[in-house]
Amino acid sequence: MTTPINTRLLGSGGKGLRIHDLVKAPANTPWAVAKQQSWDASEPATVYTTPEVRWDSEPCSAVTVILRTKGCHWWWSSGCTFCGYFNDTRDDVSNDDLHAQWAHALEKFDDFADHDMVKVYTSGSLLEDREIPVAFQETVLADCARLGKELVVESRCEQLTEEKLAWATSVNPHFTVAIGLEAYDDEVLRFHVNKGFTTSSWERAVDQLQAFNLRVKTYLMFKPPFMSEADALDHSINWIDAVADRSDEISVNPMNIQRGTVIDRLHRHNEYRPPWLWSLVSMIKQSHALIHAEPTRPRTRLIVHPTAGGKIRGSHNCGSCDSEVVAAIERYAVSADLMEFEGLDCDCRSVWEAELRNDRALPVPLGVSKPRRGQAIDILRSP
Ligand code: SF4
Ligand SMILES: [Zn+2]
Repeated sequence: MTTPINTRLLGSGGKGLRIHDLVKAPANTPWAVAKQQSWDASEPATVYTTPEVRWDSEPCSAVTVILRTKGCHWWWSSGCTFCGYFNDTRDDVSNDDLHAQWAHALEKFDDFADHDMVKVYTSGSLLEDREIPVAFQETVLADCARLGKELVVESRCEQLTEEKLAWATSVNPHFTVAIGLEAYDDEVLRFHVNKGFTTSSWERAVDQLQAFNLRVKTYLMFKPPFMSEADALDHSINWIDAVADRSDEISVNPMNIQRGTVIDRLHRHNEYRPPWLWSLVSMIKQSHALIHAEPTRPRTRLIVHPTAGGKIRGSHNCGSCDSEVVAAIERYAVSADLMEFEGLDCDCRSVWEAELRNDRALPVPLGVSKPRRGQAIDILRSP
């Protein structure tokens, strides 16, 4: 009789853990519940302004309003492996609370007088009736139409039905819907992200949005859990190419580690390194060529915002070149000009290149980056 080999990645032959259970474990811990109850439900989580680009490519200023809500219905039943929004929500937020939060944002920025664009984020889907009362959905749509603001909201795919969009466009005929697709790959959606929908769901949602002349923004995730640096780089370029023709904008979100998530646990166990900033620069340069093959007619607009860039929990390099590289990536999001990266260099670039070479040469699914710990022989033995 042969004894199963106990390697780190293959496990001991016992039943594997379900990703669903790993995702849900921290949400009901005392620290998470206490944090949720500590929020004031009548004030938005945050309201801030950023430079942006309008639908007609003109530079503008945007107000981002992040509301405190009941969170995402997919989170209630399962949840994505990197989503820490449950930290910022509470399950008793009412219609009155949401209206008070909205009034607070309008007052703080003088009815958004100096800002052409308003992004309203709800830690879920604005157009999902189980999460957001219809009366409040209507307030946001109607106020932005009345004030003449370009509105951006976020949604999963299943809310974007013909019936819902017919109603929404009767209140506000022009807005943008940002969908967190994360990956144009059903295997990654299922086993790395636990997204709860497929690329076909995204295709159907985009069909609907285009039928109602609404703009489509697609979020992709750079380096989801259980993926090496080299795979993340190669896949992300393919995904950008796959969604470019159906997305007015693509926003690539490099992984940042949020508390209490599966990715947080992997990170604390030294089994995941957030993306290198050099990988993001390389992804932008390679995707730029695909997007701007016809320079006068780009296929889409590519935006990359390295949240927590330069920090251990966000995309980072060696520590000394980080702020310069983050600034260049942020500038590219507005200028779409590769000149932003001219002259950028650092000694750590060779470490990053070696890591990519190793990832491509060694058959290790999680990659071989420095933070991977464990016996080298165990790591190499895994498939
Ligand atoms: S769909 Fe979005 S809000 Fe919902 S669990 Fe996934 S990442 Fe979080
Ligand atoms: Zn460096």
